[in-house]
Amino acid sequence: MAGGMELGTVSRGFRSMFFMLTPNESSFQKVEAVPQYVEQATPFFIGLMVLELLVGVLKTGGSVVTISDGLTSISAGMVSRLPMLLMRGCELSAYMYVWDHYHLVELPWDSAWTWWLTFLGVDFCYYWVHRFAHEVAVLWAAHQVHHSSEYYNLTTALRQSLTQQFTSWIFYMPLALALPPSIFAVHIQLNLLYQFWIHTELIRDLGPLELIFNTPKHHRVHHGRNLYCIDKNYGGILIIWDRIFGTFASETDKVIYGLVFPIRRFEILHVQFHYYLYLWKKSKIYKTIIHKLATFFNGPSWKPGKSRLGDHDDNPKVTGKEVPHDPSWSMPLQVYVVIHFLLVLGTYHELIENKMMLSQLTVLGMTCYILLTLTSLGFIIDQRPRAASLEMLRCVIMVTMHRYSYIKPFLPLLAVPTEAFVSLSLLYWALQSCSQLLSIKRKAA
Ligand SMILES: [Zn+2]
Ligand SMILES: [Zn+2]
Repeated sequence: MAGGMELGTVSRGFRSMFFMLTPNESSFQKVEAVPQYVEQATPFFIGLMVLELLVGVLKTGGSVVTISDGLTSISAGMVSRLPMLLMRGCELSAYMYVWDHYHLVELPWDSAWTWWLTFLGVDFCYYWVHRFAHEVAVLWAAHQVHHSSEYYNLTTALRQSLTQQFTSWIFYMPLALALPPSIFAVHIQLNLLYQFWIHTELIRDLGPLELIFNTPKHHRVHHGRNLYCIDKNYGGILIIWDRIFGTFASETDKVIYGLVFPIRRFEILHVQFHYYLYLWKKSKIYKTIIHKLATFFNGPSWKPGKSRLGDHDDNPKVTGKEVPHDPSWSMPLQVYVVIHFLLVLGTYHELIENKMMLSQLTVLGMTCYILLTLTSLGFIIDQRPRAASLEMLRCVIMVTMHRYSYIKPFLPLLAVPTEAFVSLSLLYWALQSCSQLLSIKRKAA
């Protein structure tokens, strides 16, 4: 019986990745009863990423993902979910508040009509969340994270913004006047999950489905920095919104992925925050308050004298021969980074699983530790001069936390990783001492 139950859960989990759940099995009366579809999807994320890697090797003879880029993307996915350890998602919290105080009608939670209407409403609002995220520079500062990879594979889907959630909720509020929070809580998750599988180059064309649905083909265009790709194909599950509002483009020339000005960095906090700093510096160039404000609220390409969205012709031209940035780093360092990344992934997983049993202080401490680890690994990938000292500091913190049982629930589980940390850190330190031999130098920016 337990086996049967488990099979049902697995099947539902798998289908939730492709918007293949029925209203019947995904309607709930109370928000508390709504499954954590996104958190439960981790095994499917990993399974599909491994599948893509294998199929990619068979099909192209090479790897569709690199260690530096793939780990940076998965790290961004982890970082973006960290605020949810301390509070319910912003979107859902705000939604429940508006519903409790201002809802005009109460559509029945157990009707398929309500379910389908919520699906359409969430997907429509997502289109506008996404379009504003591209057309308003300060919102783009958050969303550019998702576009910062020069590769396009399933790991790119996980490269999510930490700060976007703090503004995107506003766009969903009109729905809270009529549609129950419990159904919204389902669709806000299914909409996000659907967008995972479309981040692949291995699926070329899906025939008639391309007319209605957002597909790998359409979303590749969205990630392109070719002139014909800029500000196109914002849809979440449906592509019809782009066709209606005139932002649709179909895939023609070879798509070159990433930002118009590629960041060529893998350090996680830089990926998340560099554009805010850029905007601040850009605004300081202008003398008038109007121009300063326009820097933040017009499009990212805007300049004085241009229209709201600026002129994309001014941006660097794509030749089609661009090669994605992949740092050259030694094999021992790659092995070291991958092992430590897997260890911190384990810590992250434990934290998510046990968050209800831990004090806020412990959750905060672990969160800081995860951020520090991901930053330090990014320093190593970017081969920054301070990488070795930051990494040593991190290992000391790790051992101290272990020694003082700060992270008690994980103690047995962390005994082996801690051993590994210490021995590998010593190995790393030895390797760093021979850095001339390994010719680790930070390339001049
Ligand atoms: Zn986008
Ligand atoms: Zn995307």
